[in-house]
Amino acid sequence: MPFEQQTTPIKPPFESWGRYPAYDATLKPLHWQGDFPAAIAGAISGALPVGMGRSYGDVCLLKEGTLVPTIGMNRLLDFNAETGLLTAEAGITLAQILDFAVPRGYFLPVTPGTKYVTLGGAIANDVHGKNHDVTGSFGNHVPCFELMRSDGTRMLCSQRENPDWFAATIGGMGLTGLITWAQLRLQPIVSRMIDYQGIQFHGIDEFLDLKKQYENVAYTVSWVDCVSTGKNFARGIFMLGDHSKVPSELKTTPKPKLVFPFNAPGFALNRASVSLFNTLFFHKQMKSHVKMLQDYEPFFYPLDKVLHWNRMYGKRGLLQFQYAIPWEHAKEGTEAILKEIAKSGLASFLAVLKTFGDIPSLGMMSFPQAGIMFALDFPIKPNVSFPLMQRLGDMTLEFGGRLYPAKDACMTASQFQAFYPKWQQFSKYKDPALTSSFWERVTGEGTAQ
Ligand SMILES: Cc1cc2nc3c(=O)[nH]c(=O)nc-3n(C[C@H](O)[C@H](O)[C@H](O)COP(=O)(O)OP(=O)(O)OC[C@H]3O[C@@H](n4cnc5c(N)ncnc54)[C@H](O)[C@@H]3O)c2cc1C
Repeated sequence: MPFEQQTTPIKPPFESWGRYPAYDATLKPLHWQGDFPAAIAGAISGALPVGMGRSYGDVCLLKEGTLVPTIGMNRLLDFNAETGLLTAEAGITLAQILDFAVPRGYFLPVTPGTKYVTLGGAIANDVHGKNHDVTGSFGNHVPCFELMRSDGTRMLCSQRENPDWFAATIGGMGLTGLITWAQLRLQPIVSRMIDYQGIQFHGIDEFLDLKKQYENVAYTVSWVDCVSTGKNFARGIFMLGDHSKVPSELKTTPKPKLVFPFNAPGFALNRASVSLFNTLFFHKQMKSHVKMLQDYEPFFYPLDKVLHWNRMYGKRGLLQFQYAIPWEHAKEGTEAILKEIAKSGLASFLAVLKTFGDIPSLGMMSFPQAGIMFALDFPIKPNVSFPLMQRLGDMTLEFGGRLYPAKDACMTASQFQAFYPKWQQFSKYKDPALTSSFWERVTGEGTAQ
């Protein structure tokens, strides 16, 4: 059963979510798995399979190359209603999986902050959710998948069959080949609702105390104010939730109606407007602790309510900075980085703080590692944003952390190679015909053709 697409059809140029950098690549949309070798044959500057372009930087881009959008290859292949094991082509989106699975009493095992990503994209970046502490990352819930190389050879990959290819492809950024289909282990639910709590905190110590207090709760995430200083430094809201155990109707989600209609002027997001937003957001929750039942949509996907919200940042786009710093330096690193951001004068209203647990990722190049994870968006102001990103990347390295390729447009080659020391081992699994602008930027390597 192929699914109807819920978002606009693919038109060039193919953009990543940050809209920076912007390149004109040739697009060869894929509808049938077997067409992959022909779609990329003769691609002069290499090729890359892509999903919904929900990565922020250039991991899903290829300057002057051939991009192969996979969202037309989105058939549901099998579903076991007893076990929740779903098999689908890799271009299916998590939104489409939810539309199918929720009415049948199942939910995704791990979900990023948007459901408009493909199954293949979620594996290729080994994405994480608000439940990393208890479930690990996406790849931990993928028993097997098929990998097709550019020459058309197919390989079944699991922890038993071709385990090295399995490890290289989870978090492998699309560089080992095309994931044609994959299995995903869904989790049972009896309700769409989430038992939600929101708790205000002041500072990283209070955030860590809350995390400890609620360590058995499945989902935790915090919004943090990264503009305020003094007594409001690192204030935020700790949000937690579990799937409700009280059965209720499992209907599908209506399609979103709101679309951000135009590119906002660059000055719309400035320190004053973000500071105002942060104060309103912090006090939106009138009490320091609220409890309520909340539908899963606003809990997991508050940003999906407005399609194309990235246009709010104007034509120049946005940069995202996202790190994971191990526990040893997590607190001091996070405080130092928050101070550096406040000092820069650049403002971000989307600043998210989470923790990663110690369930190891299965991917050779996966981003998650136990400790604190912090992510924030910046508008692009060339003279300020790029030097700041460089400094923040260096600080992340000093504190023993790493940046997330899926969100990156700025890390340098030396930073990447220090963050991901297995990169040379990984490059042995790279398909000679595939590359990305990210890979070329951080390794200097292109295709072998
Ligand atoms: C609002 C928002 C919130 C987000 N929240 C989170 C979060 O909480 N956690 C998180 O981890 N990420 C998060 N992300 C990032 C997003 O989940 C990842 O970048 C995801 O990989 C995007 O999937 P996609 O289908 O859009 O793939 P694309 O961005 O198009 O591509 C991503 C990578 O997957 C590869 N790829 C795609 N399809 C295939 C295939 N069939 N075979 C082989 N390789 C393939 C591409 O080559 C590329 O390297 C968020 C993004 C947004 C916009």
